[in-house]
Amino acid sequence: MKITELFKQKQAVVSFEIFPPKQVSSIDVIFETIDGLVPLRPDYISVTYGAGGSSTKTTVEIAAKIKNKYGLNSLAHLTCIGSSKSQMDEILNELKDNDISNILVLRGDFPRDANPADLPNDFKQASDLAQYIASKFDFCLGGACYPEIHPECSSLDKDIENLKRKVDAGVSFLVTQLFFNNDQFYRFRNKAAQQNINVPIQAGIMPITNRKSIEKMLSLTNSEMPLKLTRILDKFEHNQEAIKDVGIAYATEQIIDLLSQDVNGVHIFTMNKPQITKDILRNLGSLIYSINKQTI
Ligand code: FAD
Repeated sequence: MKITELFKQKQAVVSFEIFPPKQVSSIDVIFETIDGLVPLRPDYISVTYGAGGSSTKTTVEIAAKIKNKYGLNSLAHLTCIGSSKSQMDEILNELKDNDISNILVLRGDFPRDANPADLPNDFKQASDLAQYIASKFDFCLGGACYPEIHPECSSLDKDIENLKRKVDAGVSFLVTQLFFNNDQFYRFRNKAAQQNINVPIQAGIMPITNRKSIEKMLSLTNSEMPLKLTRILDKFEHNQEAIKDVGIAYATEQIIDLLSQDVNGVHIFTMNKPQITKDILRNLGSLIYSINKQTI
């Protein structure tokens, strides 16, 4: 099913993100993760592309299994920087042949060890990929957005202007970068609406499991750690179990607030840890059910 159809049926779409195992690991380990996530009945599962050294082929293989073996909707991420049109065509045809209807179109980032001059230059932005796919194929396209501004952009207004181009090029829903301050999301959502960006925006939620890794991620994404969270981490950072509980509680509270403000959906970055996602959803089950029951 196209993900845009899910947004028509549900007030709040709930989805999960997983990443393929590194090339040195067997692909089978990811199916244990998916086995743990399937009983939570997400509206769809997305599979990252090329990030963390994974091979690009595995994204297609995993997204296809989610759809065809587990019977769930899948969303395949696809980055275009440094790729040629013919390379993209090959992957797009593979996605089509595997009956995958949904793609998260992304620019991606140049690998640190690559020289951009050595790589193809057919796509400069995610909007170029969206336009290319929309002109040749019939996929439902999603795109990334940044409540706290993409790190390369000088202002939120400029970033939203660029985002509008991506939507106009064929992106019909958006998934945000992680954030911990919901007010940043609301500010972004208001500004996007003012610029006539009227597609559903799903909030990306990252449960904290480790202080160091979350701080690294925040520095890469330019995102803010709220003072309240800093204080809690200061107190409990050396207790791994406590940090995990903090992450579950904080994500739960964030999602409850977002649902109360009519968010179109939440996309949980599972980090391939089904138990944490399970604990968050256990806290939220009745809430999500009651919200969606009203609109089905
Ligand atoms: P774009 O939309 O192209 O934007 C990139 C920058 O260019 C922004 O600063 C934007 O303002 C600017 N810009 C856009 N259009 C124009 C224009 N026409 N003129 C001038 N400037 C412009 N990375 C991976 O490698 N694999 C993944 O699977 C992956 N999944 C992700 C999932 C989510 C939900 C998110 C939020 C990010 C993900 N990323 C992934 C990271 C992403 O690839 C990076 O953030 C990358 O730097 C930007 O990609 P983009 O698609 O947002 O780019």
